[in-house]
Formats: sequence, structure tokens, C-alpha cells
Amino acid sequence: MKMFDPHIHMTSRTTDDYQAMAAAGIAAVVEPAFWLGQPRTHVGSFEDYFLSLVGWERFRAAQFGIRHFCTIAINPKEANNRYLAEGVLELMPRYLEKDGVVAVGEIGYDDMTDAEERLFGAQLELAVEHALPVLIHTPHRDKKRGTERSLALVREHGIAEDKVLIDHNTEETLPLVLETGCWAGHSIYPDTKMDEARMVALVQRYGAERILINSAADWGVSDPLKVPKTVAAMRGAGIDEEAIETIVWHNPLQFFAASGRISAADVLEPSGVDQSRLWEGNSVLRGQTPRVDD
Ligand SMILES: [Zn+2]
Repeated sequence: MKMFDPHIHMTSRTTDDYQAMAAAGIAAVVEPAFWLGQPRTHVGSFEDYFLSLVGWERFRAAQFGIRHFCTIAINPKEANNRYLAEGVLELMPRYLEKDGVVAVGEIGYDDMTDAEERLFGAQLELAVEHALPVLIHTPHRDKKRGTERSLALVREHGIAEDKVLIDHNTEETLPLVLETGCWAGHSIYPDTKMDEARMVALVQRYGAERILINSAADWGVSDPLKVPKTVAAMRGAGIDEEAIETIVWHNPLQFFAASGRISAADVLEPSGVDQSRLWEGNSVLRGQTPRVDD
């Protein structure tokens, strides 16, 4: 079964991860723009980061047979630096038009401050202007209220709910999201937030419609194989193959296809790894023999 990890920060992962993901059946990923563990201090840092998401990282994924797409945004953790936020908002339209950019995201609330709300709203407007879907993460603290406020802001800005993916859901927030027309993502982490067994229980209760799962792997304690591991857990629990495939393949494809920049036909076509290729003169190899598929 081909799988899609619709939320993973590959910039912070290794080539071993790419190899293991491809071997486990992951054929495509979406890498949302996020913060770097500490706030950036210059608008130019965002520009170089966006360029690497649409450039080097996309190339690096292809070198291991994985299709790479990304989303572009400024994170709420960087909302309080007004100079920075305004500068990035000015920069974003150029990047929202690039190939491989399939949504505005990840945006949302962190501490639910006024500055965060302004930035959240401005980026929802950018999504409307560029006819792109939106990836919204829910805060780690006060998650239920954060989810309710996010859904209210989506309504206020008149965004079609079927173009909105609310991420990092739990047992508490999923019913709120399913009451609307939005899609619901779940980040499967080692030990915290949501794990394989709890996800199995949610699918048994709510079914597969508008449900997505991801690893949200980054430079923190996380696991880039959580999508295949959750597939194994769903299979073990007797959830039927059609429902599993809907969750890990058809749903993410259908959601991001609203960008007009990704289609099932594209992603299913074997990409053929060619590690003799270079990106701006650079290779992922360090003298090893390149793998070149027919
Ligand atoms: Zn993330």
C-alpha cells in the first residue's frame, strides 16, 4: 500500500530516514513551513528557508524516490516580532505561486495572543487570494479552546471548510472538527499526544471520512515511520484495507489536490531515482555509487 505523510519536517531529518520511509511504502510527503526551534531574527532567514523547501529538500526527497510538497507560512511563535511578521507576509505571495507549494501553513494559535490572531487572519486571507488550502495546527496548551477559536476564525474569514485541515487532533477536539466540513489530522508521536492504539480507537468510532494521520516528525523526539506503524496497528485491529487506504492515501491527496498542484496520477507515476543528478552542483552522495533506476 502506498502511503502519504502529510505533515513531516524533513529538513530536520536524515537520509537514513528517507531510505526507511521509502522502504516502508511512503511515496509522498508534505513538509509544512515551521519555526526553527528558536525565533528567526531576519526576514531573509525565512526567504532562504522557503527556497530550501521548494528547492534542495524537494530534490533530496526525490533522490530517495519520495515526492515532496510543502506549505508556506510564518508560525505563531514568531508573531510577536511585528517587523518580522510584516516582512514575511510581504514575501509569502511570491512563494505561494511556486510548484510544489500545496497550501498555506502551518498557521494557528500558540498562546492565543492578539498578535497571533492578526497573523493567523492575514494568512487566511492570503490563502483565499491564492486559492490554496490551509493547514492549521492546534495549540499544545488549552487545545479545545484553541480549536474552537480556530474554527470560528475560519468561518469569520469565509474560507470553504473543505479547504481547511485542522491538525494535531485528540479525542477531545476531533468531534468539534467533524461537526464542521473541515478535515482532521492526527499526529502520532512516541509516548505523547496521540499514539497508534488511540488512533485505532478513533477510526473505529468515527470511520475514515476526512481523517488523516501524520508523524509530524521534526528535530524533537518523534518518529518518521509513525504512518506505516499506525497502518500496521489498524490492520492488526481488523480495520478494513479500504478505510486504511482512504486515511493514508486518498484523503491527503484529495485535500491537497485543491491546490491544483498535485494529483493522484502524478504521485502514482514511478519517479525513478537518479542519484547521479545534482542540485545547483550538489549531490546527496559522499562518493558512494549513485543509484540510477531505469
Ligand atoms: Zn509541524
